[in-house]
Amino acid sequence: MIQQTNISSLDRLEQFYLLKNFKEVKLKCQTFLRPRLRPDIINWLEENLILPDSFPIPGPFRIRNSPHLEEPLRKALDPEVRSLALMGGNQMGKTLLFICVWAYDVVNDPCPYLYANATDDGVKKYALQKLEPIINCNPILNTVIAKKRRGNTDESSTRWKIYPGGWKEMISLASPGKTRFRSARKTVDDDMDEIKITLGSEGNAHSNLKGRVTAYKYNYQHYFGSTPRRDGSSYIQLEFKEGSQANWYVVCPGCKKELVLDEDRIVWDKEPIDLLKTEFHNDFKTARIKCDKCEYQISEAERMEMLLKGRWIHKYPSRTDHLSYQLGKASSTIASLSFIAEQKYLAEKAFENGDDSLYESYMNNEKGLPYKKIVIKEIDARKLIDRREDYIDPEKKNIIPNGVLILTAFVDAQAGSQTKPARYEGEVWGWGVGEECWMVDRFKIEGNPEDRNVRDKLKNFLNSLEYVRKDGLKRTIRRIGVDAGWASQSIYELVERGWDKWCATKGSNNIRASLLPRKISLVNNDKSVLINVGTQAAKHTLFLRLQEIDETEINIKPNLTDKETEEKKEFIAKIHHTKLFCDLDYFEQLTAEHAVPIIRQNETHYVFQKKKSGLANEAIDIWCGAYAMMKSLNVNWRKYKASVDAKVGALSNQEETTADTSMTNLVMRRMKPAAPLELTKVKTKNKNVIRRPSVNPITNYG
Ligand SMILES: [Zn+2]
Repeated sequence: MIQQTNISSLDRLEQFYLLKNFKEVKLKCQTFLRPRLRPDIINWLEENLILPDSFPIPGPFRIRNSPHLEEPLRKALDPEVRSLALMGGNQMGKTLLFICVWAYDVVNDPCPYLYANATDDGVKKYALQKLEPIINCNPILNTVIAKKRRGNTDESSTRWKIYPGGWKEMISLASPGKTRFRSARKTVDDDMDEIKITLGSEGNAHSNLKGRVTAYKYNYQHYFGSTPRRDGSSYIQLEFKEGSQANWYVVCPGCKKELVLDEDRIVWDKEPIDLLKTEFHNDFKTARIKCDKCEYQISEAERMEMLLKGRWIHKYPSRTDHLSYQLGKASSTIASLSFIAEQKYLAEKAFENGDDSLYESYMNNEKGLPYKKIVIKEIDARKLIDRREDYIDPEKKNIIPNGVLILTAFVDAQAGSQTKPARYEGEVWGWGVGEECWMVDRFKIEGNPEDRNVRDKLKNFLNSLEYVRKDGLKRTIRRIGVDAGWASQSIYELVERGWDKWCATKGSNNIRASLLPRKISLVNNDKSVLINVGTQAAKHTLFLRLQEIDETEINIKPNLTDKETEEKKEFIAKIHHTKLFCDLDYFEQLTAEHAVPIIRQNETHYVFQKKKSGLANEAIDIWCGAYAMMKSLNVNWRKYKASVDAKVGALSNQEETTADTSMTNLVMRRMKPAAPLELTKVKTKNKNVIRRPSVNPITNYG
């Protein structure tokens, strides 16, 4: 029943109530139409969000557990910010940040969301281990997100969540063909460096994802997060560089200055296990981190206190629409110093054994930085093969160039593989003035290197070798090294009592080891000589020479010092390979390694490592061995060449060639043990049996 009433016919009281009612209705309408005030994200999270067990710190969300997330959380909701990138080690809180922002948005500002992970596995883990549990333990999310229902694509599924005002789809960038890209207002590009770019992938999946926001021209946002991988090919590094580049600064309790904690400056207590102090027990629980300004050692408790009061400092604060943050584990409250210390120790130890994979992951996961595995300049095997020379006649293999003054040989014992038999493999190198060198022989003795007969065969073969220079001067091999890295005892027996001619060698793992040690060792009951060769030093020389052959302007180090430039000039075209023995396989072995820069104690070192694991590199080891043998002879080239020239002069006057051996014997008798090699042990008893090895026979020539 609707009654129309004339207001003027109402009495004063009725008019009063009518007006009052009308005002109330008007107020309610205005309240309803007013935009909702969005609560502060930190307050909202602390009041509403419970983190499930799958997060590092479960329970009610507390910003003091990860203080470094406060600024990025607020900025992620700032309408001025278009892109926000987080580059850091694992457990930096990247996933937590993305989930918190999303949970807040579901309740306070729902919109279409596209979450992308580089791998399908990554999506699965994110959806099942992070998203589902957080929805299940938070009623505020659980009540608004549609329940799963089978067979109905419009309802939520594991990878597809819908709620009033928005939805969230989780996709993998690994299979772009299968992905239905929708238009979204916010995109999350998570684990972006894990993506594998294959030949079949269509364009750049990351930029395809960015293109999904075109419908939201004025209020779109991109969030990026990843642990960086390789320097130069890292996507998160690119996003970081284009952004404001913030680091987390804390105040040192020692000097009160602001600094970024550096994982490389972690120290811990070491207890020697043996009397010689060669082995240590590492007490990682005592890990401390040194201030780079005052050397104050910050304890774990102090670090935690400092982190709570830290702040982000942006390198480019004007880049307000693209914010980027980098965080190492030492700056994260979630990580512990002792854990980082252990990772650092393991990585450095593996590195010294020639394996940089752990070091790479230490760099990525603990330091949160891309790893610089730069191939400075590859040496191309095919270029080297074009530069081979014809200095040895296949008919007269023992005739060698006139430039050769001395000969050394190096032998590698090989256990054999499925494709190659067990064998001894070696080369003879001739050396001249300025260490110019020629390969004069290459040989293989097949059979088990530990077998006495095979050893004897090698020994007789090498002892029988004799070479004659084109001018008629005879040359014999002055020193033979055999690699004892494998089957050591057999090799010691092989070189037994070889004294100044035969010696065993082992490569030193120390990257800074000098080519030859100050002292040589006696092994095998003092019957065999063992020399530790600084392989990195030898390889440095080899690659310097190979590069000069390449003749293009290559720097093995980006910034050569004057001394190194001189060193480089000196070696121009001083390594000669003969067509007779050197095939493509040989050059592939010779170029199987490359220089890799690593940073230790703020200093860059270059180390040679295989380009790929599994590559054969015997040719490198053999040249380095022959080179070390030559260096151990400590030749004064100018003086020695003069004496050899005199002999050649005498030869041309005489009919017979007899001078060489007698000359050598004469010099051998005059020889003194000289620097740089000395013996560590000299037997005093049985002097008749154990002769002091004469390790430096040519020093006093001339
Ligand atoms: Zn300090």
